[in-house]
Amino acid sequence: MGAINFGYTVSAARAIDLDRNDLGPARQIAAEMPEFAACIACGGCTATCTAGALTNFNFRMVQTLVRRGEYAGAWREMNKCMLCGKCRLVCPRGINTRGVVRLIKRKLGDY
Ligand code: SF4
Ligand code: SF4
Repeated sequence: MGAINFGYTVSAARAIDLDRNDLGPARQIAAEMPEFAACIACGGCTATCTAGALTNFNFRMVQTLVRRGEYAGAWREMNKCMLCGKCRLVCPRGINTRGVVRLIKRKLGDY
C-alpha cells in the first residue's frame, strides 16, 4: 500500500543549538547597526518585498537565521534584494532594512 497523500508535507525536525553557533558575525552586525537586534520577525518586510514577489527571497527568514548564527547562503540570498526600500516603509520597528541587507552582504561575504 502506498503512502497516503494528505496534501501537505512535514518539514524535517531541526534543533538549533545556539551555543554551538558562531555568533561573532551576528554580534558585529548588531554592533554596527543596533536596530538589527530590534526585529520582531513580524514578516511585514517579506510580505511587501519586491524581490520576494519575483523569487523565493524571504528577507525576514534570512535575517532571523543570521541573528541565530546560521549564515550559510545569506550573502547569496541577499543578492536577490533590489534595494527598493519598500520593506523599510512597512517595518513596525523602523529598521533600516536596506542598511541591514548591505551590512549582511559586507560582513558575510565569506559564508
Ligand atoms: S518588518 Fe521589520 S520587524 Fe518585521 S520582520 Fe521585517 S525587519 Fe523585522
Ligand atoms: S529593499 Fe530588498 S528586501 Fe526590501 S522590499 Fe526591496 S527588494 Fe525586498
